[in-house]
Parts: sequence; structure tokens; C-alpha cells
Amino acid sequence: MAPVIDLRSDTVTKPTPEMLAAMAAAEVGDEQEREDPTTNELQRRAAELLGHEAALFLPTATMANQVALRTLARPGGLLVAEERTHVLLYEWGGPAIHAGLMARGLPAEAGRLTPAQILGLEGLGPGGVVVLENTHRDSGGRVWPVEDFRAAVAAARERGAAVHLDGARLFNASVAAGVAPAEWASLADSVTVCFSKGLGCPLGAVLAGSAALVEEAWEGKFLFGGALRQSGVVAAAMLYALERNVERLAEDHARARRLAEGLSEAGVPVDLDAVETNFVGIELAPLALSEEEAVARLRERGVLLGYLRPGVLRAATHLDVSDEDIDRAIELVPAALGVTTGARA
Ligand SMILES: *Cc1c(COP(=O)(O)O)cnc(C)c1O
Repeated sequence: MAPVIDLRSDTVTKPTPEMLAAMAAAEVGDEQEREDPTTNELQRRAAELLGHEAALFLPTATMANQVALRTLARPGGLLVAEERTHVLLYEWGGPAIHAGLMARGLPAEAGRLTPAQILGLEGLGPGGVVVLENTHRDSGGRVWPVEDFRAAVAAARERGAAVHLDGARLFNASVAAGVAPAEWASLADSVTVCFSKGLGCPLGAVLAGSAALVEEAWEGKFLFGGALRQSGVVAAAMLYALERNVERLAEDHARARRLAEGLSEAGVPVDLDAVETNFVGIELAPLALSEEEAVARLRERGVLLGYLRPGVLRAATHLDVSDEDIDRAIELVPAALGVTTGARA
């Protein structure tokens, strides 16, 4: 039986022996006393890369987003985001619970709120937060053009609201666009980056912002139980990933592109224009298949796919996906979904 090709998510990667060696060799101390040298070094590097004064290590990007919102918001303020963003869909009502924010989701192409949408919002003002996501997960890992991002930020500022960038996959955006991560990140008040996605770490995230914001964010880190001890063990993996796993995201993107084109040629309904980074979305409506049925059929053939948004499955490329895996997936997926080779959707 051939090994399973796991394209569910870029979170399924396991740390490599080299990453584990870096973790084992980490110099550590008590993070809560700010005495963990490896965590301190990660925070310094992250701040520099993201164009901010300071950064804070947190165990997850969800916690980083929630700490950011708590720091930026005033209870009763408005949280504005594209309607299919992570903070609105996958963080369990955290913005309401932790920051007292009222959420308002707006539809937007490729996850990109426009200045007109932001300026037109009743109730958005000081104490409110606009959250922008780059890459935007649910639209298929789409990248914000820097100028569109700058315009959205300017609109939020005009209304007196703060701006948080959920850059869980900001390095994917950076590598795909050939633009430094700071080009987007420095425009926002705060930015989250996740290291357990394409960067291949077992856990870890950073939140960056001004020195004052990060000092306040420490309070949230303690409050949420995210103040750790010898976190340098994890920070070492993250520093390793910054050195070794950023540029190689281009390989994930090239494999996603090849997979998308191969599937499309075989007649699988794929929106090629949406494939900008490491996700390929497969539309189920034209195939008349439910998500459960499609996933089960694929699993029988040894291909695991995940969920992108209602009616759309996701194939995500990552560190543990090879060129051979892509070749096999291009053969197995159309067969599993009942697409006749050569037919065009
Ligand atoms: C995965 C993800 C997060 C949360 O990351 P965790 O480290 O799993 O908590 C936040 N935002 C976006 C856009 C994500 O894709």
C-alpha cells in the first residue's frame, strides 16, 4: 500500500531531526523573568523582520491575535474584518469574551476590505479594531497587494480605529509577492505570525508592535496563561525556521501551482487565479459531491484533503510534500472524485 499523501493542512508537518537538534541545543532560562536568551533573541529577530520596535513570543497565533485585540480595543468597540477571517470564524468568540468587541464581518473579494467599506461603517471609531488577514486563509491563501493594504489601513486610521494584521502566513505572502514582510506589518499597529504552519515548527507564534504595545501585551500573555518558563526550547525551533524554512516556501507555492494546473487539466474544478501561495481549492458543487463523501473517497485512494470553506476542499502543500506526491495526487484526485481524464470543467 502506497503511503498516504497528507494535504489537509500545512500544520501536519513534524519537526525534522535538524530542527530537533536546534531545540535540544537551546540555551534557556525563565521566560517570565525575561531571562530566556533564545526567546529574547527570537523576539529581537521577529521585531526586526516585521518592522516594529518589539515582539512577544506566544504559544499560538490564536493567543497572539487575542492578546493583540485585548491590547488594542476598548470594550464595546467594533471589530471589523472580512466575514471569513480567522478571528471571526475560528477563535470561538474570543474577541467578545476577551476584549469586549462587537464583531462585524463584511464580504470582500479575496478577503480584502476596501477603504469605502471601512469608511462607510457606522460605529467604527476609537476603541475599535480593523483586522486584516494576509495571506487570507478562506479565499485560498490570497496575498494582499501592498497598496490595497496601505489604503485599508489609512481608512481605518481615518476613522480612529486600530489595525491588527493577522499574518499567520505572512511569510507565504512575502515569498509569493517578493515583498519584505515589514512592508505590510509595519503599517499595522500589531501583527501576528504563526510558526506552526508552513514554517514547520511544532508550535509558536509572535506578536509584534510598538514597545509600549508589547509591554501591555505582556499583561495579556500572563492573563491567558501564555507566560512560559524555558520557552527557548521552542524559540530555537522558530529561529531555525527563520533561517531555513522561509525561502523554501517558494517550493510549496510552485507545487501548489503545479497541482492546481494538473487537476484543472484533468477536469477537476479548481480556480487557478486564486492559487497564489500554498493552497489549492477544489469546488465540490460542479461534482455534485458532499464534503464528507469527497473526503472519504479521497481517503480510500490515499489522499487526505482538508476544508477551505463551505463547498470547497483544500489541498495544502508543505515541508513534507514532495514532487512525487504531487504527481501521484494529480493522478489519484480526479479518479477519486469521479472526474473522467481529459474532461474540462
Ligand atoms: C492558523 C491560523 C491562526 C491560528 O494559529 P494557531 O497557532 O493554530 O493558533 C490564526 N490566523 C490564521 C489566518 C490562521 O490560518
